[in-house]
Amino acid sequence: MSIQSNLERIKATIPDNVTLVAISKTHPAEVVMEAYNAGQRIFGENKVQEMVAKYETMPKDIDWHLVGHLQSNKVKYIAPFVSLIHSVDGLKLLDVINKEAEKEGRIINCLLQMYIAKEETKFGLSSEELEDLLKSSEYKKMKNIKVIGLMGMASFVDNTEKVKSEFRYLTSTFKHIKDLYFKDIQDFKEISMGMSGDYEIAIEEGSTMVRIGSSIFGHRDYTKQ
Ligand SMILES: *Cc1c(COP(=O)(O)O)cnc(C)c1O
Repeated sequence: MSIQSNLERIKATIPDNVTLVAISKTHPAEVVMEAYNAGQRIFGENKVQEMVAKYETMPKDIDWHLVGHLQSNKVKYIAPFVSLIHSVDGLKLLDVINKEAEKEGRIINCLLQMYIAKEETKFGLSSEELEDLLKSSEYKKMKNIKVIGLMGMASFVDNTEKVKSEFRYLTSTFKHIKDLYFKDIQDFKEISMGMSGDYEIAIEEGSTMVRIGSSIFGHRDYTKQ
C-alpha cells in the first residue's frame, strides 16, 4: 500500500471535525514528502533534532507538532516554528516554552499531557496536578503560551474496554477543566488522543485530534537511528 492510499483510507474514516496529525518520526524527509504531495500538511515528531532537520528541508507551509517528551533545554530549537506542543507535562516546562516564545515574539499553542494509562509509566499530569498548574499564579502570568486542550496516550493493550475507559476519562477531565478554567475561551477545544491502533475508539470517545504514524508510513525501523 502506498502512503497516499494509506492516507486516503484513513481520512475516509475520520470525521471532518477531527484533525489528522501524521506522525512522521524515524521516516526520512523523502518519504514524508509522499504524504505532503498527497495533501497532508500537519506532521508530528517526537524528537526535537529530527523535527528541526525536517523543518529545514521540507516546504514551509507545514504545521509541525511536537508529540514526544520535551526537555526544557531543547525548547529553544523549536520555538521559532513549532505550531503545537502536545506533550507539556509540567509548569516548569510551560514556563520555559513561554520564555522562548517571548524571545521569538510568538504565542505557542500547547496541550497539557495527562497520565491516563493506568498500567504503564508514562509522562503526564494527574488531574490534581493539572488543576494545580491551572490555578497557579505563575501560569496566569504567562502571556506567550496558549493552552488549547489536553493530550493523552492510552495503554497499549488489546482490551478495548480498558482503552475506551481511559479515553473516556480524558474527555470527562477535559469537560470539567473547560467548565472551571476555560469557560468562555473558544480556543480551548482540543482533545488529542488516538494512534494507529486505537484512533477509532478515541474518536468515538470524543477525540478532536488523532496522531497516526505506522498506519500511514508503515512500521518504524529504529535500528537505522
Ligand atoms: C509515535 C507516536 C504516535 C503514533 O503512533 P502509531 O502507533 O505509529 O500511530 C502517536 N503519539 C505519540 C505521542 C507518539 O510518540
